[in-house]
Amino acid sequence: MNVVLTHAYYLYEDDKEQKIMRPYAPLGLLYISSYLNKNKIENHVYDSTFYSFQEQLEFIEEKKPKAIAIYTNLMTKINVIKLIKKLKTNTKLRGLKIILGGPDVTYNCENYLKAGADFLVIGEGEQTTLELCSAIFNNKSYNTIQGIAFLLDEKVIKTAPRVKIKDLTDLPLPNREAIPVYKYLQTWKKHHGQSSMTVSTQRGCPYTCKWCSTAVYGQSYRRRSASLVAQELKLLKNRYQPDSIWFVDDVFTVSHKWIKSFHEEVIKQDAIIPFECITRAERLTDEVLQLLKEAGCSRIWIGAESGSQKIVDAMDRRVDINVVKAAIQKTNALGVETGTFIMVGYPGEEEEDIYETVRYLKAANPTHFTITVAYPIKGTSLYNEIEKNITIQPDWKTTTDRDIDFKRTYSRKYYDYAVKYVVNEVNSAKGNTFLSYSKLKLKSIAAQIGMRLYK
Ligand code: SF4
Repeated sequence: MNVVLTHAYYLYEDDKEQKIMRPYAPLGLLYISSYLNKNKIENHVYDSTFYSFQEQLEFIEEKKPKAIAIYTNLMTKINVIKLIKKLKTNTKLRGLKIILGGPDVTYNCENYLKAGADFLVIGEGEQTTLELCSAIFNNKSYNTIQGIAFLLDEKVIKTAPRVKIKDLTDLPLPNREAIPVYKYLQTWKKHHGQSSMTVSTQRGCPYTCKWCSTAVYGQSYRRRSASLVAQELKLLKNRYQPDSIWFVDDVFTVSHKWIKSFHEEVIKQDAIIPFECITRAERLTDEVLQLLKEAGCSRIWIGAESGSQKIVDAMDRRVDINVVKAAIQKTNALGVETGTFIMVGYPGEEEEDIYETVRYLKAANPTHFTITVAYPIKGTSLYNEIEKNITIQPDWKTTTDRDIDFKRTYSRKYYDYAVKYVVNEVNSAKGNTFLSYSKLKLKSIAAQIGMRLYK
């Protein structure tokens, strides 16, 4: 008896990512796979990234699993629903139990169960998937398994929440051997000349930013020992020779004590690989920056979300925008690249806040920034705050939380132009020739006209 672990992301269908081509392996599934292996549960990972829906179905039919566990997030939700439908009506897969896990299931239990899932894994997946598979394989009762949801007489039953794994040292390394890692490395090399892989050192985040979802690991802070992380880096270095590592942790420098031992261990174990990470400005002292640089850090993403203190406070980011600006400038001065994230259209944001954001970005001068229009993810404080002001609540099965809209200061179209304005205006300041400056400036003016029209 076996379980297939899979997701429903297909790179060839993703036009946006086809232009970016920075795919990463599904680390969460690989952690579950190695945990099941450790506990002698036969499992097969089908990483659909480089394959088609049809190939995925053929694989599942061939393995004839007793259960299938599908990782589900905002991006893959619609494909997951399509996959469930196909599996449910497939006569070769009678009796198959469909399990869903991942961040999108926590606050959409009824919808996913009514879409055909048999079980949902809510929160951290390793122990719950293990216990659930054992119960399914042995026809045992599952009512007392922590962290699951299922339907009983059309009613959603949720069991007691899963107690989080206290010591992450208990987790075996993710089962990267189960997937074609070389395809990721080749894709990166082909499109960027350099390869990149992901590593996780922590779970959870102790902060409370209102728009951020903590649906899987919760508001917690748990970390693997620096020595184990260095061992993993050494193994990756020997086995795959990646050119860089992306640490998927929420706040990499939250513990300065950990950063010191990480620095010590990567040097001691000859495990330095250039890496990038995300952190918060107030957790970046001069000493920490120096340690990061010596440990191989080549780029730090420092969250700000807005250049307006009023909006940063409304988000409950708990950071001073001047501290963020100084952290970006200090990091640049040290020769380490910087990145930051920006959001427009947050409740209460006015035009002057957008101008402040532009001034902040020009002054801080991060090497990279990403920008999006704020959207409410179910289960977050932001969602709860704006719920009564929702103006567009599209059909759940065919859309995602990104498509929900709510009453903002200006129209939705205004913010689409605001995104173009911020990007072109900030980049025009970086334009190193008169021609590039003029082109971007013209685009910025055009976007500003759009903002006026849709205000
Ligand atoms: S945005 Fe970052 S710091 Fe804030 S809660 Fe989310 S992960 Fe934590």
